[in-house]
Amino acid sequence: MNDKPEILSLSKLQIHLPQDVHNQLETQYAILNDTSSCNHIDKILKSMKTSPAVTCCRVNLLTSSVDEVIEELKVHLSTIEEGDFNVHRHETISDLVIIRANNKLSADTDDSDIESLYNCSVPPNKECINIFPNWSKRNELGWPMSHRSIVVDRYCGEAVLRGSNIFVKGILAADSGIAEQEEVAIYAHLSSKSIPRGLVLEKYSGKCVFLGLGISNCKRYEYFSQSSGIGVIVTKIAGSSQPSLNSILTTKMMMQNLPSVCVAHALDPQPGDVILDMCAAPGGKTTHLASLMGNEGLIIACDKSKKKMLATRDFFQSHGASCIVPLALDSTKALLELPEGQCWMSPKDIIETASTSGLLEVGFYANSFDKILLDPPCSALGLRPKLHVELSSKELSKMADYQKRFVNNAVHLLKPGGTMTYSTCTINVCENEDMVKYILETFPCMKLVPIQSEIPGLNGLSNRGLSEEECQLVRRFDPSDSDGDTMGFFLAKFIKSS
Ligand code: SAH
Repeated sequence: MNDKPEILSLSKLQIHLPQDVHNQLETQYAILNDTSSCNHIDKILKSMKTSPAVTCCRVNLLTSSVDEVIEELKVHLSTIEEGDFNVHRHETISDLVIIRANNKLSADTDDSDIESLYNCSVPPNKECINIFPNWSKRNELGWPMSHRSIVVDRYCGEAVLRGSNIFVKGILAADSGIAEQEEVAIYAHLSSKSIPRGLVLEKYSGKCVFLGLGISNCKRYEYFSQSSGIGVIVTKIAGSSQPSLNSILTTKMMMQNLPSVCVAHALDPQPGDVILDMCAAPGGKTTHLASLMGNEGLIIACDKSKKKMLATRDFFQSHGASCIVPLALDSTKALLELPEGQCWMSPKDIIETASTSGLLEVGFYANSFDKILLDPPCSALGLRPKLHVELSSKELSKMADYQKRFVNNAVHLLKPGGTMTYSTCTINVCENEDMVKYILETFPCMKLVPIQSEIPGLNGLSNRGLSEEECQLVRRFDPSDSDGDTMGFFLAKFIKSS
């Protein structure tokens, strides 16, 4: 006999964090707790269950224009039956196009509108349809009686909430008898205990959450007999509607989260600059720099992973970003010592004299770059949507130690007078405000400077040793801030004194 499955609505789901991580974050954010409601970290975790309400498309100015992208997006979005979307230019960020779903309730909106799906663990069933007359216990177990259902893995579930369709590889369990074109209910498997792919739903006994509805693209057996392809086209999700933009305008724009788009703008690249991007793959921010510079200048893009960098190189090419030189390089080791008697060489000379076969493996001398974009690996506790977190507090503190190694190299590689941005996609203060404090204390040559006023964001937290003024200079993006409604992110800008 199976254990009973635990079937939740997204509203009932509490994102699982290891207790020590929860405690650590709770202490960091205690300063923002208000007496009227739950503590701040729980507010953040609640917003992390869904995607930000708007989709952001950053225009590649090397191949297109904002007007052209808006026009083409409008045409594409008008072909999407489910959902009504509004497309407009961002108020202050010049190369950013925003897509917002019009989720207003109207006379013809039925119960299955997104607001109610968020609160449901089964699809609304006004007509009391029962397609399982011979499975009387199904209702008791909590599965829908009106729909056959599928259970997908967690990562696939997170992608569904971002507007993605479901690839067969992500499907773990499904009801018998699902036909092509049949509407199915979609659940995400949450327990860490893995389940074998191909399980029939009757045998499923884990913990899962209802995510929405979709139309099966094939018969049930094909989910598990095919190695690739789309298994279910998602039609309604339990969160704000997200347009599916896969394979749309791929070289003319890129979908990026709003705070990520702020980074290249904060660095403010100018034609002719020599820039180092220390952690570049998959290349979103690097191509943004190239776009803003009109390809005039030199961007050295490093990533430790050769595999990622080879894919990123193709991405640079498809975006027409010809001023970028991709390197498979551990940038915590990017700083070369200048041997006695040897002449200092510029990044351009180093690149030109190095071997040209494959990806170059080189390093650079101190004081080489006009600008450095440092977007190091981080705990990623700001990514949305998130259905589960597997990260110990030990791993969290290790992250900050690793980031310091990038910072130490960056400070030396930057020219006097040069600019550096530091960014993370996490809400963990140890990697954010604390890192700013570390940089200011360890490197008196580094000065925290204002980020342009058109770049949105909140002040830094003031309980970590930064002064009021310093808190105002950084940008903190808080997922629970309903005005911003972004991912969790942090951005600071420094100038190295001459
Ligand atoms: N800036 C990127 C995202 C960077 S994510 C963008 O906007 O698209 C962090 C990246 O750092 C990962 O791709 C990871 O492979 C890379 N990385 C990890 N350790 C590194 C190291 N020591 N040197 C260079 N890159 C590293």
